[in-house]
Amino acid sequence: MRPAILNPLFTEVETLEGVGPKLKKPLARLGLERLRDMLYHLPERFVTRRAVRDLDEARVGEHIVVALTPTEHRSSGSGRGPYRVLAADAAGNICALTYFGKAMYTAKKQLPVGEKRWVAGRLDQYGQSLQIVHPDHVLEAFEESGSRLSEPVYALSEGLTQPKVAHLVEQALDRAPVLPEWIEPTLLQQRGWPAWRDALGLAHAGEHSAARDRLAYDELLANSLALSLVRADRKRRRGVALKGDGRLRSRLDLPFALTQAQKRAIAEIDGDMRQEAPMLRLLQGDVGAGKTVVALEAMLIAVEAGAQAAMLAPTELLARQHFATLRQLATPTGVTIALFTGRDKGRARESILMGLLDGSIDIVVGTHAIFQEAVSYRNLGLAVIDEQHRFGVAQRLMLASKGRRTPHTLAMTATPIPRSLTLAQYGELDVSRLDELPPGRQAIDTRVAPLDRLEEVVEGLARHISDGKQAYWVCPMVREAEDLPEDIAAAEARYAALKERFGDAVVLVHGQLPADIKDAAMERFVSGDAKLLVATTVIEVGVDVPNASLMVIEQAERFGLAQLHQLRGRVGRGAAKSVCLLLRGETLSDTARERLALMRQTQDGFLLAEEDLRLRGGGELLGTRQSGDAPFRIATMDQVRDLLPVAHDDARLLMERDGGLTSSRGEAARVLLYLMERDWGVQLLRGG
Ligand code: ADP
Ligand code: MG
Repeated sequence: MRPAILNPLFTEVETLEGVGPKLKKPLARLGLERLRDMLYHLPERFVTRRAVRDLDEARVGEHIVVALTPTEHRSSGSGRGPYRVLAADAAGNICALTYFGKAMYTAKKQLPVGEKRWVAGRLDQYGQSLQIVHPDHVLEAFEESGSRLSEPVYALSEGLTQPKVAHLVEQALDRAPVLPEWIEPTLLQQRGWPAWRDALGLAHAGEHSAARDRLAYDELLANSLALSLVRADRKRRRGVALKGDGRLRSRLDLPFALTQAQKRAIAEIDGDMRQEAPMLRLLQGDVGAGKTVVALEAMLIAVEAGAQAAMLAPTELLARQHFATLRQLATPTGVTIALFTGRDKGRARESILMGLLDGSIDIVVGTHAIFQEAVSYRNLGLAVIDEQHRFGVAQRLMLASKGRRTPHTLAMTATPIPRSLTLAQYGELDVSRLDELPPGRQAIDTRVAPLDRLEEVVEGLARHISDGKQAYWVCPMVREAEDLPEDIAAAEARYAALKERFGDAVVLVHGQLPADIKDAAMERFVSGDAKLLVATTVIEVGVDVPNASLMVIEQAERFGLAQLHQLRGRVGRGAAKSVCLLLRGETLSDTARERLALMRQTQDGFLLAEEDLRLRGGGELLGTRQSGDAPFRIATMDQVRDLLPVAHDDARLLMERDGGLTSSRGEAARVLLYLMERDWGVQLLRGG
């Protein structure tokens, strides 16, 4: 149970003044749902503004506050271009205040002609004239002396402004309780760190590295502690030694030779499963490294030893695909494989449940439904969790721990976690790495083109298809669970446009489509009947169609590197030379530009993962928050390098002294775990 002291922090943002249904959505888009989220929505940076008497005093590019009097409002003829308010300073210089989109309505209200206003923003030049694009503030009064010239800059989403966010943060800070200290006093002193509540206040008020470090440390400590709790729980459990004799594996008739890396991983897994202590191993391998066949071998070991195996996929789509792949590969072994998803109802469901209970099903592939309460296994020996970074690591491990005898667990991930983070993400888990791609893979030719070359792209696509090859067309979308109507609309619109050109050869898949329609579309694409698959990021993980050798990604600048890498990994799987075309919008931020350049330069997933963390620009990327591919929300890479080893040792020490978290520091640590939403570890403690 969550300690009561935290309750105020877990109340909804709607309880804050000024948050109604209209603001809820843009806040949710940033993952800001409770007061706690608001507190941890730390400024991306601070701007320091200089108050100037007139524009002659200011440099282009400088952040200023200046008194301006609007002289004229100009809307663009078409209504599509920017809305401009011309305004004069005290010396008679004219400056344009430029607004795009709906912001013009604010401008109309805030800047009546002839009335002096204080305008804060960045001075830019456009053509021969001066302008301020989307001023940060327009104030009727401004106290030059003693007024705040340094201001936080928060990540925003459409519908939010800096002052609105600042106001909400302020209220959240006011309501934040004083919490017991979970950091060792000596460390706190040695580093000069403030207490938790003070640290938050300071981090929102200005550049304060000690405050930031402290908050980062909290996150790292919570993570290390939670992983230690999972690890300790594992050690308390007993599993079953599964000694495979190779009789099923020897019947496999694979169309390729295993790579050395695959062989090594299988040997490591086999070694673990022969022990009574339940395996807890992570199989890490870049997209296309061949994890599926390793999983199959592991599952066959379990079946050879008389046990059952279950494989958990993150989406229905992937579960189906794994099922099809595994069934085909395993045909010569004669094992019984079943597919089980939440969609199975009635008789079909009953018969699978029976099969799992009486042991007539050897291997089951499915979504989280396979670990639900209603599902009982005769003898589950191995749980394989695919792409588990999408789930929240330990939650799955706990699920897999159902039953008296803990099954061996193999977690697979294609997210190449930088070495520097493996410890953080997985604590002391055993790791097998597939650090070698199957032979014969060709480099994917990656290009960047502006969206206005669309026609050419479609022509290229037509040639590609008439050569008998297949292609993906990806439109951006946050995550399956949180898709924005605009993004769905964009995918639908693109599909409609391409359908005009390619007719029935195009299919559409996105998270909002009914399951049977999605399946049918997918089946047509996998079978080669459909040539072009228009999709949102649903296809990000796992889909394997070797004949698809062209990938078009629209609005590529909105994706993070790790995600682009995953998407690109869908092509380059067959013999044909593959192309990945990144279509970008008109304007790019510096980090977006750098990300796209990196995609062209390298195919090294580990390098991209490191860079991804570095280049994660604030708020502009899709689906990065909560998606689990950024392991930490607060700690930066530098802080991870500096503080993670300390947190790791600290957690171990605390666990040694007080594994049940019952001392006063243990109690404080519980508060921390809930606060940082790493409480899955606590729940493993008795009475947790
Ligand atoms: P991932 O690690 O991304 O899950 P998959 O298991 O889907 O990769 O494998 C990618 C592709 O490579 C599949 O088409 C698979 O059949 C093929 N493959 C796997 N191992 C080998 C190998 N040793 N040699 C050649 N192809 C392989
Ligand atoms: Mg896979």
